[in-house]
Amino acid sequence: MSNPFVGHELPSPALDDALAGQVLRDLFGLTGRLTTLGSHQDQNWRVDTRAGRFVLKVSNPGFRRSGLEAQNAAMLHLAAGAVGFDVPVPQPSSDGTLIPTWEHGGQIHDVRLVSYLEGRPLADFDYLAPSVLRRHGELAARTAVALADFDHPGVDRILQWDSRHAFDVIDALLSHVADLDERTLIRSVAETAREALDALSPRLRMQVVHADVTDVNVVAQVDRAGRPVPTGLIDFGDMSRTWVASDVATAAVGLLVHDAQRPLQLVREVVLGYHGVMPLTADEVDALWPLALARAAVCQVSSEQQVVLDPDSEYARMSLRMDRTNLHAAASVPIALAGAALREAAGLPSADLGRRTMASTRRWGAVLPGEATLTPLDLSTTSDLLGPGDWQDADAVRRAIASATGDGIAVGRHGEGRLLDTVEDCATEPRTVHLGVDLFAPFGTPVLAPASGVVVHVPPITIQVDGQWLRLSGVNASVVVGDAVEAGAVVGMVAEPTGLLPPHVHVQWLPPGVDAPDACEPSLAAGWLALCPDPGPELGVSSEQQPGDPVGLMRRRDAVVAGVQEHYFTSPPEIERGWRHHLYDTDGRAYLDMVNNVAVLGHSHPALESAVARQLRMLNTNSRFHYGVIVEFAERLAARLPESLDTVFLVSTGSEAVDLAIRIARAATGNEHFIAVRSAYHGWTFASDAISTSLADNPRALETRPEWVHVVESPNTYRGIHRGTDAGARYADSVAHAVADVATAGAGVAAFIAEPLYGNAGGVLLPDGYLSAAYASVRAAGGLCIADEVQVGYGRTGHHFWAFEQQGEVPDIVTVAKAAGNGIAVGAVVTRRDIADAFASQGSFFSSVGGSPLSALAGLTVLDVIEREHLQENARDVGDHLHGRLWALMDRHAMIGAVHGLGLYQGVELVRDRETREPATEEAWAICDRLLELGVLAQPTSDHYNVLKVKPPLCLTRASADFFVDTLDHVLSTGW
Ligand code: PMP
Repeated sequence: MSNPFVGHELPSPALDDALAGQVLRDLFGLTGRLTTLGSHQDQNWRVDTRAGRFVLKVSNPGFRRSGLEAQNAAMLHLAAGAVGFDVPVPQPSSDGTLIPTWEHGGQIHDVRLVSYLEGRPLADFDYLAPSVLRRHGELAARTAVALADFDHPGVDRILQWDSRHAFDVIDALLSHVADLDERTLIRSVAETAREALDALSPRLRMQVVHADVTDVNVVAQVDRAGRPVPTGLIDFGDMSRTWVASDVATAAVGLLVHDAQRPLQLVREVVLGYHGVMPLTADEVDALWPLALARAAVCQVSSEQQVVLDPDSEYARMSLRMDRTNLHAAASVPIALAGAALREAAGLPSADLGRRTMASTRRWGAVLPGEATLTPLDLSTTSDLLGPGDWQDADAVRRAIASATGDGIAVGRHGEGRLLDTVEDCATEPRTVHLGVDLFAPFGTPVLAPASGVVVHVPPITIQVDGQWLRLSGVNASVVVGDAVEAGAVVGMVAEPTGLLPPHVHVQWLPPGVDAPDACEPSLAAGWLALCPDPGPELGVSSEQQPGDPVGLMRRRDAVVAGVQEHYFTSPPEIERGWRHHLYDTDGRAYLDMVNNVAVLGHSHPALESAVARQLRMLNTNSRFHYGVIVEFAERLAARLPESLDTVFLVSTGSEAVDLAIRIARAATGNEHFIAVRSAYHGWTFASDAISTSLADNPRALETRPEWVHVVESPNTYRGIHRGTDAGARYADSVAHAVADVATAGAGVAAFIAEPLYGNAGGVLLPDGYLSAAYASVRAAGGLCIADEVQVGYGRTGHHFWAFEQQGEVPDIVTVAKAAGNGIAVGAVVTRRDIADAFASQGSFFSSVGGSPLSALAGLTVLDVIEREHLQENARDVGDHLHGRLWALMDRHAMIGAVHGLGLYQGVELVRDRETREPATEEAWAICDRLLELGVLAQPTSDHYNVLKVKPPLCLTRASADFFVDTLDHVLSTGW
């Protein structure tokens, strides 16, 4: 049979702009400005006329008129239905027809004018968020739903883009592929796809579909977060009656260029979007990857041909580059994995691979000689055996594993999300989920075939057993391909290990012909686990791990924990472990923690852990008893403060500290009124909440202050009302006015309270002289000055231990918490003896947990570690470096309006416009979501939620600081 695609060379029409203008005038009676638009085989112009904006389309004479009529009919059909997105609407010519003709160069061209869709093609956006990919899939599906009842004689034609003809097209055009490697790849991809499709195609649904819902044909508008939202669909030129599955595959595979490293994860989102609107059958889901491969191959061979036809066309060469990327990305995913993963995502039962039945009815012989017991080991994120800090040397790892198993055989578990030994770069999702079972045994131990079969691959030893593949890796093989082995026969001996784990045999089930990894990325785990089931039952050990379920856990949280007790992120990972400045989710993925200002020492500090554990064994009671550590901690804390601040009250939290400070100030002054700065947060108790005006925490804060609270201007030199060099004095005037107002009302000021570095505004440094002038006017009126160091004290600013030092001032009362206990409840109010004594008028003071042996010891240990590990100095050095690098980013990203702060309390303020400083609030949230995907935990703060908080544990390394800046740079460059 002759191949209809051979010799179909379709050079585009070649009208110049002047001629196109004439076409527009003569056929449609319109004049306007013409701008050329790219096209594969037609010629298109955007035309701006007084009557509006249109697209003038001059068709390739190779195309049949009935096809154009079908396109027009479909567009009108969709425009008439409530599809929820826009399509171009055909415009009648002066003589009332929709497809007038024009003769040029001896050819008759069909001409159309259609309405123009505002927006940008999705192709213009580099990164496409999962929500955007789903919307793309939904749009494709809504088109298919709307076209389900559409018909037109023009849709039944032989089209090179119809996937049913993909292999003919590839055969016909393969010769245009000059690069031999590329040609080989295309040929093999096509063979794989053809074989898979042959089995499925009789069961694939057919209907009229757009068949070209790609990123160039989907028009998007940018939402407030700066993300593209698909709002329109153009170019109905490939519409045909074909497989629904090919419509989905086309919609997905064309986007791979946006994230070619994670093709399956990307396609899964598109498919989920499609499937949610137009449910797919299991056969259709199985056909998706073969169809994606076929489509990618057709696109590439067509682009190769186009480049041959039109070597000067930059458009053709660019298309080819993208098509190659798409094909390589699609080809990197085994079809079996794609099928399993997409079925799982779509909630369809996994394909019956016949293995489970066999596994449950057969028991194998031993893999290692002897009858030793098999003891499963916990190497998961929450392992007590090996934590993130234990992976320094192989001997330690070996000893830990040996100690856990005694004389038995240690077994590494299947499906476990394991901790890895390196975290400095956590941008790419690491392969943490273990596929198969590890049997630990000394180097040189003989390894036996557990079941009879034929060796099909070495190394690693792969034995075909009952039609399935059983792989034994980590073995020096003594068998070769083709050997028939009996159960119990020696096949090799345990090899030297390649990583930090001691020698072990990795036992794994594989689908025949699929090269599964030993461990996979969590996002691919469901697919891989469906393909590679647990060999534990055959080995006689129960080892399978249930994957974590962060979504189910969140459901339970929502059902029982108060909604206002908020959590970070809409869909957060389940974090169950921390180590230094990283946190780990239950899949073993590490995240750089840029938000945990409480954990100054870093997470799970061993010194704190062991001190606290010992104290719990010795004593934990309340501060009415007489014991040493309360004294030691109070002495050490007071010693860190200026001499006058010599008396300590011990509490548990920042809110309590502030609440108590309020009562102390009232008792000491006999006055009632407080002056607090706008946008600040000081706590949740009744009194500390009364002086908090952060709108982020309470949007109605300003309207609801009690009459004893006087709110003064926010001393924010970036966003506040005074921004010049005299800002300190001018903001302090606002404090002086408040003092005067209180006096005028016949009342007295008890205290002025402020964070000495404006933490809740995003780490903004107070302007020079502000605290001195403000303190002076408050003191002149008999009031006290409270420095709330709950967030910003304790060495965080690097250059100082207390943030008030930066202002060269000494407060009368200091509140301390958060860092003081590194997450254990430790808080304090430190003041002068005379002020503290005045509290006696209020009765005594007692807090059940404040100052307890446990809490005091935690406080003491934190101070010790800060000093011993030079964490303040680290905050200074790494903080300065980080500040410099973040500043440098401002040159490249206009969105960064300012970088605030000092040491390891900084803020990256995001704005829509540097002149107006309009806060980029929605963008900041979306950017944090993308940072999370890339392994960085960050959150916005300030009244507008537009400042990225930078307040990591003080043990942050320079490498991690660089990683943070590089990742932020990448996000701001590629989108979010
Ligand atoms: N003061 C400041 C400046 C704070 O940032 C906070 C907590 N964000 C508090 C007080 C209250 O501390 P806690 O959450 O320990 O009660």
